[in-house]
Amino acid sequence: MPLSMEKVLAGQRALVTGGNSGIGAATARALAKAGARVAINYLFNEADAHALVNEIQADGGEAMAIKADVSQEDQVRAMFDRMLKTWGTIDILVANAGIQRDAPFHEMTLDQWEKVLSVNLTGQFLCAQAAVREFMRRGVVPEVSCSAGKIISMSSVHDVIPWAGHVNYAASKGAALMFMKSLAQEVAHLKIRVNGISPGAIRTPINRTAWETPEAEAELLKLIPYERIGEPMDIGHAVVWLVSDASDYVIGTTLYVDGGMTLYPGFREGG
Ligand code: NAD
Repeated sequence: MPLSMEKVLAGQRALVTGGNSGIGAATARALAKAGARVAINYLFNEADAHALVNEIQADGGEAMAIKADVSQEDQVRAMFDRMLKTWGTIDILVANAGIQRDAPFHEMTLDQWEKVLSVNLTGQFLCAQAAVREFMRRGVVPEVSCSAGKIISMSSVHDVIPWAGHVNYAASKGAALMFMKSLAQEVAHLKIRVNGISPGAIRTPINRTAWETPEAEAELLKLIPYERIGEPMDIGHAVVWLVSDASDYVIGTTLYVDGGMTLYPGFREGG
């Protein structure tokens, strides 16, 4: 059992969806630092994806960028084909790509509803299925890892905290939670580990309006007992542990990385 996380993923190949921004980019950096080869999936901002590949390579790591819309089956298949052809297999999937399309419920369009469900939920289904098929084909290679493969479903504290004005997003993350647990139960006997990470408020483009002004930041901090906004690398570090053999007995669990946001902060003084 490794005691240090240094190069704990040496020899492993990881795919991070939505890996060119925010939490995905920090996760790609953290996985590369831990010794994994990292495929960085992107759909928009191609230059960011290539810049991150260059950064990882300059640091002595191995990376590649792959364009694909995770909600489209043919594109997901092509992305996996390319990764498997280049690196032979996949050991780690971080199903991270996600979007918000916020609206008051009475104004939410069907398109806003379907778009969020298709990226946040169907995207995880398509990528996890492609990964599981490869994990099943290859099985355990003990010199690489004691499991046949690891999947992280990037969820949100809004898989348990209701969120007015964001019904589509909260529904997608609540569904992702049971998707993750049901899949974990189904494939654990194949030595495939499926777990979730539910970030709290992390400083990324997805929630810029919640932290970009001092007033917004002060309001947000009221919801965080640890009294700081999370940084993308808070999640990157958690991912590395959760996909490493150091967490080998952790199956179907959600790690809330949220500065205590899920601890009902209003009850610190109230109740
Ligand atoms: P972000 O907007 O910086 O990153 C989202 C990434 O997903 C981007 O790279 C985007 O291009 C990509 N993406 C969007 N649609 C895609 C598609 N169809 N196919 C492929 N890629 C696509 O935001 P982030 O905060 O880094 O979000 C990453 C994940 O973390 C999301 O699933 C989000 O729901 C979750 N999350 C974020 C926070 C937070 O506070 N930032 C909190 C909880 C959960």
